[in-house]
Formats: sequence, structure tokens, C-alpha cells
Amino acid sequence: MRVLLVEDDEPIAESLTRGLSRYGFDVQWVRNGADALTADGDFALVLVDLGLPDMDGLDVCRELRSRSDVPIIVISARSDEVDRVVGLEIGADDYVTKPFGVREVVARMRAVLRRVQPSQKEPTQERGRLRIDRRTRRVHLDGAEVELSPKEFDLLAFLAEEPGAVFTREQIMEAVWDENWFGPTKTLDVHVGVLRRKLGDAASLETVRGVGFRLVLP
Ligand code: CA
Repeated sequence: MRVLLVEDDEPIAESLTRGLSRYGFDVQWVRNGADALTADGDFALVLVDLGLPDMDGLDVCRELRSRSDVPIIVISARSDEVDRVVGLEIGADDYVTKPFGVREVVARMRAVLRRVQPSQKEPTQERGRLRIDRRTRRVHLDGAEVELSPKEFDLLAFLAEEPGAVFTREQIMEAVWDENWFGPTKTLDVHVGVLRRKLGDAASLETVRGVGFRLVLP
């Protein structure tokens, strides 16, 4: 499985390349944003360091995301929550914070890759004015495509499995983010906020105080 690693720190990149190859990943390593954006290959996943010499790693993510749905994992030396949330809101699928071990990175990569595998569930959900297609991972609202990040799509598709039903924060975090999830759920609120903005009055994501969320169709 081919993976693109965007990282200017040589010791980190070398140990990650070596480590990932032991787990069967074929790593192509580039040292800056420009090379990342011109890298040629059909990558199954991209790892992007946020601190790059030529451009902001977030801009690299944004550009990659505008071109494709390739899963992106952000590598960050900035450990504060704000950067994490921003990193996920721009379309990254997950993040790891330096220092990290190869096993942690592999676990996150596998979780992300598992989530993007085609689902066995109902391929197309018709929900009021929304049409959610799991095979193409596209959402249409009154026939026009709504641009969603992979996580926004997963969140919407999950809640749309049962409109009206309340899902707890924990259920949502486990289903959409990571089955071994634990910790704060601010990321969830950020994604709910973005989805609300993008869906307008076609569907409401209602907060059920102290419990979680439900999708309600008008
Ligand atoms: Ca760096």
C-alpha cells in the first residue's frame, strides 16, 4: 500500500519510513509542500507534517483535499487543541502529535483506512432533500452536490442511518472517529457546526443536552 510522507525532519522521516515498511507500507518521502503537491502516485494515504519549510502544512492538506478524498493524517508538533481542531476542520482525517511511536501511527492509519473502505450498509440514503451515496461518498441537496470533508460525510451518513434517533457522543466518536476513542469531543462539535452550515434547512442536527445529537428532517 503506497503512502506519501511529507516531512522535513530527516530523523523522523527516516524512522517512520523504516517503521512503516515493516508493516507493509510502501512510503514515498518528500521534504516540502511543493514536492507533496507534485508527487506522482496513487497514494492510499498521506501523512503531512504541519511545520514544513516552504509552506504551511495546513495549506498542503487543504490543497490535497480540494483535489481528492485521499485520507490525510496530520503530524503535529503543536499539541494544543486549537491546532488539532483546525487540522481536522480543513479536511484531515486524524492527527498524531510528536513525539509518537510507529505503532501509534500505524493504528491511526489502519483506523482511517478502515473507515474509508466501502460499507456493507445501504449504499444510498434518501433523506428528505438529501441524497447520501456511500459508494461515491457524495451528498446531494436538491440535486446539487454538497462538498463535505471525509469526516463530515461519515458523521452525516452515520446520523442519517436513523433520522430522529439520538446518538450519544461516545457512540458517534467511536463510529466516526476511532473505535478505541477516548478523550474530549470538541472535534465532534466543530464538525456538527460545519455540517449545520453546509446543510442549511435541509436537515437539522439537533443537540440533545447532556446526551448527544440526532438528525431531524423537516
Ligand atoms: Ca517539520
